[in-house]
Amino acid sequence: MTLSENGDLWCDIRTSHPAGNNPALFLDRDGTLIELVDYLSDPAAVVLIGSVLGDIWQANKDGHAVVIVTNQSGIGRGYYGWDDFHAVQARLYDLLASEDVVIDATYACPHPPPDAGGPAHSLYRKPAPGMLIRAADDLNLDLSRSRILGDSVSDLAAGKAAGLPLGILVSDGYGARDAEAARVLADERFEVIGR
Ligand SMILES: [Mg+2]
Repeated sequence: MTLSENGDLWCDIRTSHPAGNNPALFLDRDGTLIELVDYLSDPAAVVLIGSVLGDIWQANKDGHAVVIVTNQSGIGRGYYGWDDFHAVQARLYDLLASEDVVIDATYACPHPPPDAGGPAHSLYRKPAPGMLIRAADDLNLDLSRSRILGDSVSDLAAGKAAGLPLGILVSDGYGARDAEAARVLADERFEVIGR
């Protein structure tokens, strides 16, 4: 696990990554992979959302990288620290291992939004595409054949900005709130699917 870019980005690359351009399944964490808890810092509160496990299993089977990209503004706001984040991640990885699915890498950005003291132009905080672009560099990913699964419009916007052709909005977390805003992102080169 490493913290880089002057603390602007945290990354944990967990598997070896093959040469060549491989597709990825990008996953938001809170409200998509685990039940939404505002400013989650307690490992005991990690609860997997079962509906996404099949996507991860299929991506593992197909040889596609599975990459979590998560905004963690609670760190930048001072509500919890990286140690708490690590503990939550460890619990998440244990739960996923018990389901026989594998995450290849996790990227996290601690920036709050600008109106909460964050940088005016974060490269990494979704809807900026920086975490996805960095993952593509690190893991030899083909963004043009990748997709993102998220519960917020900012997840899909980050995918669109990174050049992904597909965003999938789940109904968990903020999915219902953001359904209309996500639909508006769709155009001739970015498909939006709700489920
Ligand atoms: Mg989310």
